[in-house]
Amino acid sequence: MQRKILESIATGLSCGQILDDLCQMIEAMVPEAQASVLQLDRDSASLSVLAGTTFPPEMLACFDRMLHSADMETGKDAAGSGKPCYVIDVSSDPHWNRFGETAGSPRIGAFWSVPFFSEKQQMLGTFSIISKKRGAPTPFHSRMLEIASFLAGITIRNREREESLLQWSTVFRDASEGMIITNAHGAILDVNQSFTNITGYSKDEVLGKNPNLLNSGRQDKAFFLRLWDSLRETGKWQGEIWNRRKSGDIYPEWLSISRIDNKEGKPFNYVAVFSDISSLKESERKLYHLAHHDPLTGLPNRLLMIARLEHALKQSLRNPTLLALMFIDLDRFKNVNDSYGHALGDQLLVNVARRLKSHLRSGDTIARIGGDEFVVLLEQLRQADQAAALAQSCIDALARPFAIAGQEIFITPSIGISLFPGDGSDAESLLKHADIAMYRSKEEGRHRYSFFTKQLSDKVKERLKCETLLRRALERREFELHYQPQVGADSGRIVGAEALLRWNHPEQGQILPNMFIPVLEETGLIQEVGAWALKTACRQMQDWEELGLPKIRLAVNLSAKQVSPESTSHRLQTILAESGLSPNRLELEITEHSIMQGTEKGNHLLNSLRELGVSLAIDDFGTGYSSLMRLKQLPVHCLKIEQTLVRDIPDDQDDQAICRAVVALGHSLGVRIVAEGVEREEQADFLRSIGCDELQGYLYGRPMAADKFEQLLADR
Ligand code: C2E
Ligand code: MG
Ligand code: MG
Repeated sequence: MQRKILESIATGLSCGQILDDLCQMIEAMVPEAQASVLQLDRDSASLSVLAGTTFPPEMLACFDRMLHSADMETGKDAAGSGKPCYVIDVSSDPHWNRFGETAGSPRIGAFWSVPFFSEKQQMLGTFSIISKKRGAPTPFHSRMLEIASFLAGITIRNREREESLLQWSTVFRDASEGMIITNAHGAILDVNQSFTNITGYSKDEVLGKNPNLLNSGRQDKAFFLRLWDSLRETGKWQGEIWNRRKSGDIYPEWLSISRIDNKEGKPFNYVAVFSDISSLKESERKLYHLAHHDPLTGLPNRLLMIARLEHALKQSLRNPTLLALMFIDLDRFKNVNDSYGHALGDQLLVNVARRLKSHLRSGDTIARIGGDEFVVLLEQLRQADQAAALAQSCIDALARPFAIAGQEIFITPSIGISLFPGDGSDAESLLKHADIAMYRSKEEGRHRYSFFTKQLSDKVKERLKCETLLRRALERREFELHYQPQVGADSGRIVGAEALLRWNHPEQGQILPNMFIPVLEETGLIQEVGAWALKTACRQMQDWEELGLPKIRLAVNLSAKQVSPESTSHRLQTILAESGLSPNRLELEITEHSIMQGTEKGNHLLNSLRELGVSLAIDDFGTGYSSLMRLKQLPVHCLKIEQTLVRDIPDDQDDQAICRAVVALGHSLGVRIVAEGVEREEQADFLRSIGCDELQGYLYGRPMAADKFEQLLADR
């Protein structure tokens, strides 16, 4: 019997079939007996018939009734005590005879029952026999019952194991999460269908391989070290990780890894369960976008603007730069809505946003923070003028009418600008101050920009106006060169001329260079104007030479801002070639301050000038902080003593001493000394007495127009 049942289990016969066979075998051995397998449901503490095909139906009903009767312990005999139970005479048993007709049935004499258990020694059910004959089982019968009960236990346990395996394999197969099982060394033992769906690798492609074939390279070594630490210490890890599909795409997944240990506590398997969270991320991103952008224009909203501003402020603490916040409000936008309707108003806002955006620099942030209110964050500014220029360019951008739904719509902005640092230290106050500045623009008549600081507003406006006028001046030939003679200290004869720039303003008349050269330098216009001055002066000299006037040296001032090595020396070469002036007639004046900075760029320029054969003078010498060392290295031909040192001569002893020192120094270096600003004879006398080579100043002639200077030369 034992062998046959065990064989049935091994061949995978169904549990019901095996138990039925078992019952039949027992019935064949105990005459007039009926066998059954009762299973215990632990939760409801009740028994049910699992097998026993020949069981009389009234007995089954009787069992049911017994099991549901609160004080009926008989049915649970074996179940209750966990020990075999033999009822010798059912009709006289106090429990059973309550069920009158069943107990009195001639078919029921005795009832024997033996429990069987789980591996953990929990009661699973009983193997029971109802015999027609009253009496106790013989030793053979009780032994046989024990064996049958034992076999029923094995059969049921086996079924439970199979069921559980089946459940797990269904979970593994059908889970929407990808699953990987590896051995202790990380070689893949199994993957499920979702693994293939997510990664694109089939099972055959990955079996035996290491899961690191999915590595995206996005996580560093430290990340995986932490992961393994956690697996080692807690047996678990979970988190977000970026992996690579077979197609090469990188995607985010939520991954949980568990370590399974064997009985000795050594890692045996690793199980990884993961889900592709790219769509989750995408919807997160969309949600983020929705929460941070204006749905109409697609521009960042107030929330995002403040966040960016705060970020920029934080950064500029580390690396101080100038920031500007521009508050733009459309003038009389309400009128547009009222006269054309809201749909068209919306269209206009979309178009305004687009146009503004295209006029800003790529790194600037523009946001719509209210109905017709936009805010622009300008980072990395060099000076406030730049913000003003960008504001003006926004104003210009909106100047062209908008064509919407067959209508031509004109709209103008009022702009307020606040600066960091200066107008506030946090996002809110900068925004508030830009708003206040915007209101000033409205008050002053709309369609304009204002800075939060009034003085800055005025200064910048003046500067910008000046810039516009200077640009025009170049086109309209409003610049002119005047020439001032330089005379030999001893001979008193004109040996040279310094070309000095003048601006003939159409309304204000002649303007001196100190008023506008700084603006030319800041705006970069100095390049063009400087080149123009050089060209004009060289040509003038050549003209005079051709007229047969005495050959003199020409001095032209060069701004430090103009001194870009490549362009300057290249340009100079062209100018000299075009004018035909010999290079040794030209002297360039560069101020002491800019020359002493000794930059790589400066050195390069000076050397290329020397190569051209042009000579070099240090202008306004004596007030800067020249290093003798550097002076010695420079290819300098002339030092011009600063006017302020000459002014109080011969009264001021200190100035006298400095002038003496400059002359001595210059001569020891083998360079010529020119004194500027000589207005009186006693100055000339002193300068001559200390050995100054040449003199320049009102005493010998003011800077004068070309025709006057020509006359002067001709007269000699
Ligand atoms: P600078 O090169 O030192 O020019 C000498 C300045 O002293 C000139 O002023 C000249 O008019 C003035 N000056 C000459 N003699 C006397 C005098 O006896 N008494 C007094 N009080 N002043 C005298 P200006 O023409 O106003 O030019 C001012 C500065 O502008 C120049 O100083 C020079 O640095 C710059 N500059 C002039 N033209 C140019 C140019 O074409 N390019 C560049 N980059 N700078 C120029
Ligand atoms: Mg000069
Ligand atoms: Mg000077």
